[in-house]
Amino acid sequence: DARSVGIVGAGMAGLACATRLAEAGIAVTLFDKGRGPGGRMATRRAEIAGEMLHFDHGAQYFTARDEDFKRQVLAWEKAGYAARWPAAGDEAWVGIPAMNAPIKAMAKAVEVHWATRIDPVEWEGDEWIIRSDTAEHRFTDLVVAIPAEQAAVLLADAEPDFAVEAGSVRSAPCWAVMAAFAKPLAFSRDALKGNEQQPVSWAVRNSAKPGRDAMESWVIHASPHRSREVLDLPKEAVAKLLLADFFAQAQIDPVEPEHLAAHRWLYAMAEPVSGAASRRWEAKRLGVCGDWLVAPRVEGAWLSGRHAAERIIAAAR
Ligand code: FAD
Repeated sequence: DARSVGIVGAGMAGLACATRLAEAGIAVTLFDKGRGPGGRMATRRAEIAGEMLHFDHGAQYFTARDEDFKRQVLAWEKAGYAARWPAAGDEAWVGIPAMNAPIKAMAKAVEVHWATRIDPVEWEGDEWIIRSDTAEHRFTDLVVAIPAEQAAVLLADAEPDFAVEAGSVRSAPCWAVMAAFAKPLAFSRDALKGNEQQPVSWAVRNSAKPGRDAMESWVIHASPHRSREVLDLPKEAVAKLLLADFFAQAQIDPVEPEHLAAHRWLYAMAEPVSGAASRRWEAKRLGVCGDWLVAPRVEGAWLSGRHAAERIIAAAR
């Protein structure tokens, strides 16, 4: 069975799928529009006075409850890519030295084309043709491992029924603010959790995570409601507004940051759909995976990606 699998999206779902396929001896190639590994577990770098800072501006931590995923996380811990982070709870983990470490490690073991946006994908004859601006690739199997709204657009012509299902998914946006300060803030805890009515849903002292930079740094996530209110404002303005929200919510006096930036995640958190952990159309050898098919978390993405791989392995037998 000479299968070759092309995967669009090298986030946790796409890479979990690729890792399992590679273990089973199936040829796999990934494509990601991002310049480097991370997806929504990305790490943003910033240089301040000659010092390089690293912000976990997507997922701040992840939990492991499924037995298979727990085994995977323990393997990352052993290899030095992840560590527990009790500030966010007993089951919480972070990547080491940055959130994207597990993704980076997984991506090293397979072939990934970064900075390559795929559009369109076409099922022609008996194979998939996937195109980027610069190249065309052919595979026997295609796996789409991107957020639901983007999958709906990518598969609109190739699999219209699926595009309708994926297009009905609604993801909440999240504005993330990255701030660094000359001195530690007068806030005694390393994490601030807001309720649904408050503007900040999560703020963490990034520099307090294991293996991080020395300079005091924070990542502030706005709630879905607050993120929507400021959705289309310029990022400089959003950064200032949300930093002020944070100081008010933390009940500390405002401090002028040494560095301040904001990033808008349009599809941060999907409302998961029910059904199987990944989708498959055997006649077209098409698979779809992503966090939105299980739960809007790192663990959900991993489980969905593994599920998609197992279905290909079963079909290849
Ligand atoms: P992604 O990580 O989004 O990967 C999809 C990849 O596809 C991306 O790398 C993208 O560049 C690429 N792509 C998209 N379209 C194309 C295209 N046409 N061509 C090529 N490449 C393409 N999870 C937790 O467990 N705990 C948390 O506390 C938590 N907090 C979060 C906070 C924020 C702000 C965000 C954004 C996410 C958070 N998450 C959290 C969710 C977690 O990050 C995601 O569930 C998980 O990383 C999703 O993985 P994925 O592979 O499904 O998708």
